[in-house]
Amino acid sequence: MSDRQIVVSRRLLLSLGGASLLTACGSAAQENATPPAAPGTSAPGGAPAQPTPAAAASTAAAPSFPSPAPLAAIPEEPEYYVHAGPKELALTLDDGPSPTYTPQVLAVLRQYGITATFFVIGANVEKNPDILRQVVAAGHRVGNHTWSHPDLGTLSEAQVRSEIERTSEIITRVGRVRPPTLFRAPGGHFTRTSMAVCASLGLNPVAWSVDPVDWSRPGTQAIVDRVLSAAKPGSIILNHDGALLSPGESEVGGFADRSETVAALKTYLPRLIDAGYTFTLPDPAR
Ligand SMILES: [Zn+2]
Repeated sequence: MSDRQIVVSRRLLLSLGGASLLTACGSAAQENATPPAAPGTSAPGGAPAQPTPAAAASTAAAPSFPSPAPLAAIPEEPEYYVHAGPKELALTLDDGPSPTYTPQVLAVLRQYGITATFFVIGANVEKNPDILRQVVAAGHRVGNHTWSHPDLGTLSEAQVRSEIERTSEIITRVGRVRPPTLFRAPGGHFTRTSMAVCASLGLNPVAWSVDPVDWSRPGTQAIVDRVLSAAKPGSIILNHDGALLSPGESEVGGFADRSETVAALKTYLPRLIDAGYTFTLPDPAR
């Protein structure tokens, strides 16, 4: 662990209350390290339970999983960095799953052997269940990004809870995975209410530290340059593989077009690897 990481960890300990955080870390570590195998699936070596192709296509009842334990304390702020090692990064992809772009992103990640976290929108999971199952089958982490991508500051506590609970439910049922333990607020707007709701549902808030604003389609080279200039050890990189569409809107050629992101990933991921970086997942256990 580097000095910087020790400082960050101490800051978090202080901000959260040392005893409480240690309890939370311990329970979170156990939770992530030993997920039980789902009925009808295998989880060799403690890996997340993943469906076989046959199970993914099945319409049989989804296995039931225990809900995550509530966090021991309400975090004061989301996590902006990972703390896995001196040359670790985390790649996160928001607003999918997309039938057009998520499979393209998965192909790039497979090419470079990278595991990422997909913060999915519940309404998009409902429209694209097979794409979510592709994400799960490839071994990636799925996080909760609300049902309809609202500004959480405009919602009541009950509405915030509904947005989050519905999304965790459909991820678990459609993906046949344990309920997510990571949450990202739309636009990074983590309100106090949403932090409290997340804590009660066992969800750890995860923000980012590198944002190339790829969703605005600034050009592939701009996305590449922004990521490469900002990335440093521990960075959590934000990209987008989807968008919330209204009925009749196309993913291709408009605001939801993610072809620049896909092209940028093909360029910057090998450069980061060449620079000695490896990729990990945002993890509350540290
Ligand atoms: Zn988003």
